[in-house]
Order: sequence, then C-alpha cells, then structure tokens
Amino acid sequence: MSTGPLLQDQTAVVTGGSRGIGRSIVLTLASQGAKVTFLYCSNQVAADHTLKEAADLGLNVEAKQVDVRDAAACEEAVEEIAEQNDKIDILVNSAGIIRDNILGLLSKEDVEEVLTTNVIGVFNILRPVIPFMVSRRKGKIINISSVAGEKGGRGQTNYAASKGAINALTKALAVELAPRNIRVNCVAPGVIETEMSETIRQQAGDVVQSRILLGRFGQPEDVANAVLFFASGLSDYITGQVLHVDGGFKMS
Ligand code: NAP
Repeated sequence: MSTGPLLQDQTAVVTGGSRGIGRSIVLTLASQGAKVTFLYCSNQVAADHTLKEAADLGLNVEAKQVDVRDAAACEEAVEEIAEQNDKIDILVNSAGIIRDNILGLLSKEDVEEVLTTNVIGVFNILRPVIPFMVSRRKGKIINISSVAGEKGGRGQTNYAASKGAINALTKALAVELAPRNIRVNCVAPGVIETEMSETIRQQAGDVVQSRILLGRFGQPEDVANAVLFFASGLSDYITGQVLHVDGGFKMS
C-alpha cells in the first residue's frame, strides 16, 4: 500500500470551493497533492481568504469566479482549466444554496433559484468536464447532495427536490460512465457547521442535535474526508453510491 500523498499529480475542480464545505474539500484535496481550481460565485473576500490559506500552507490552489447557473461561463472555465493542466482527474460539485420556507410561502423565485443552482448548475459543469475524462478513460466525480434528499424536513421542499435529483443523477451517471472507467459517487451531509446551516442551528439547534445519533453537528472536514475517499484510489471499486455523512441523523 502506498504511503505517499493520495492525490499526487491529480488535477481537481471544486465548485463552491471558497467557503464552508467546499473550502475544506479544496484544502483537503490539495494537501494530498492535487492541484485544485475552485469556482465561486460572487464572494471575492471569501475566495481570497481561501487562496491565502492555501498559499500559506504551500498548497497548489487557484480560483475562478464562475456562476454555475451560467452554462457558457462554465464551459469556458472548464476548457481553460483542462488546457492549462492537460487534464481533469477529479470533479467535486459542492456549490449550492438554500431558500427554506414552507411550500405555501415559497416564491416562484425561491424554487427556481434553488433548482437552477443545485441541479442545472451541476449539469452545466458536468457537460464540459466529462469529455476530458472520457478521452483519458479516467476520472472521479463526487456530487454533494444532502440528507434532505432522502429524509423529509419541514420547509425544505425545494431544497429536498434538488438534492434528491442529485442522488438520482449520481446513480444514472455512474451507469453511463462506468464503461469509461469514470466513477461517480455522492456525499450527502447532515447538518454541518457552515453559514448555510446557521439559521437552522439557531432556530432549532437543540431539537436537531438531539436527533443526531453521534450527538454533534458535523464539521466541513467530516465531509471533506469522505470526498477524499471517493477522489482517491481507496474507493477504486465503488461507484454510484450515496454516502451519508450525518452522524446518524438520517437513521433517527
Ligand atoms: P456555503 O457555506 O453557503 O457555501 C456555498 C458555496 O457555494 C460558496 O463557495 C458559494 O460561492 C458557492 N456558490 C453558491 N452559488 C453559486 C453559484 N451560482 N455559482 C458558483 N458557486 C456558487 O454552503 P456549504 O454549507 O458549504 O454547502 C456546500 C454544499 O453542501 C451545498 O451543495 C449544500 O447544499 C451541501 N450541504 C450543506 C449542508 C450544511 O449543513 N452546511 C448540509 C447538507 C448539504 P460564493 O460565496 O461566491 O457565493
């Protein structure tokens, strides 16, 4: 068994890599030897902060401001990254948003924004990345969905629909790409301590935490470690899976 870095000489793209879970994924993959380019939408300060953190650690990390809702911008960015690196080995789709409310109070925009970012945004990146993987008969794709994709949660119909779609997409794409030696898996986090979950944790933190078997909220690193597993050779015989990283929340 190799004792060196798990991702030596690998090129990775991580969407939503400037903050929260994506930031931790970027630093984790890069610390295992990958050259990582992350995409972010608009928060330049957060992106710069993550870039500086990576540089201080001596990691090979770059960033591009690309809105995943914009198919043409995604295509252009992916082509630039592939050209610069000759290849893309790993894609992690982590960009995502929530607009929680009970169905009767969800606006048309709340529904469209969530589905466009969380589902169409994933297609927008997958479409240009996959040909670069297919041509080399090699690649690992990891989608970030959510426990909400399977476990019902009040006020999350739009978000749950988007994440259920990502679970289903993962399985269908795994079937399509297995003959090309490209593995597609999904990590479904529970409640992870990031800005995204701040409102839920503030409003119903004690109730939610009491239903997490391991008795604590997750940290971004808990999710990043699972992503590293799927990105590395440690999972070479695994495809089409949805791994819940939720401290047992889905089971309760
Ligand atoms: P977060 O802290 O709010 O970070 C979201 C990231 O996505 C940021 O980097 C953001 O960039 C980027 N992003 C949002 N919209 C984008 C767009 N249109 N184009 C490109 N980038 C975009 O969220 P998080 O908690 O890390 O969540 C990461 C993923 O995990 C999401 O898919 C989320 O659904 C999933 N998840 C999170 C939790 C949780 O408890 N936190 C639980 C289950 C699943 P900017 O800062 O530039 O906007």
